[in-house]
Amino acid sequence: MSKIVRAISANGGIVCTAIDSTSIAAKAEQVHKTSAVVTAAIGRLATAASMMGCALKGEEDSITIRLAGNGPVGSIIAVSDSQGNPRVYVQNPIVELPLNQYGKLDVKGAVGTSGNLQVIKDIGLKEPYIGQIPIVSGEIAEDITSYFAISEQIPTVCGLGVLVNPDLTVKAAGGYLVQLLPGATDEEIDHLEKNVNGLPAISALIAEGATPEQVCFKVLEGFEPNILDESHVEYRCNCSKERIERALISLGGKELGDMATEQPTTEVACHFCNKKYVFTSKDIQDLALNSL
Ligand code: ZN
Repeated sequence: MSKIVRAISANGGIVCTAIDSTSIAAKAEQVHKTSAVVTAAIGRLATAASMMGCALKGEEDSITIRLAGNGPVGSIIAVSDSQGNPRVYVQNPIVELPLNQYGKLDVKGAVGTSGNLQVIKDIGLKEPYIGQIPIVSGEIAEDITSYFAISEQIPTVCGLGVLVNPDLTVKAAGGYLVQLLPGATDEEIDHLEKNVNGLPAISALIAEGATPEQVCFKVLEGFEPNILDESHVEYRCNCSKERIERALISLGGKELGDMATEQPTTEVACHFCNKKYVFTSKDIQDLALNSL
């Protein structure tokens, strides 16, 4: 399980969310069998989705972050429920790139530096809320920061990081999201910037054993923070045979009819967790009738 914590400054002006998402990034790597740089990219996006998801109010609410850059990894989609349990899909799980000039995994090179980041919040309204911004960095944390500044007008600082072992397993992953509520003073902003600029990389902090509480307290040092809430989150998919059936029905009767005659069984794997669902030719025929 991964742990997520939210803390608030004593005067209520600054909220910090921090997560040790090591187990989430590890599961993402196991599901998608990604190369190191792709593990870093999907681990970062899933970490952001978890932190943004747990800020949702309604039990059935969900958030989807779709990152579509011009890099070799293609699209990455991370979805989280309102408890902060994310799942992630990546178009190209294997991308091999040399390390960047800092000797780090080149996430920007994999994602690309142009394209867009879309956030879709399903909060039980007739239409979901959709915000979209152009990619500004490709390193993901800066793009999330830019999304909040432009689409939600919330001054935000985001840090995301994933450390990958030489054997491609995940060593550590984590993130923080600091948001200023209306009324923060310039002095507070300056102080917060100093705190954040003085932080080591979040993945290094987590690798050294820092807890999400400790990360929150470092970010909010000098603001007399209090813990708002904490919970355990995990990589979680909500797929079911019914959901897969609905997706198949959307293909239309002709496509399904062809499928039913061409192959005795049809296997469909969930994009987010790789769970396999098997349909017989008869099942597909029934779905074809449903789609009419
Ligand atoms: Zn699934």
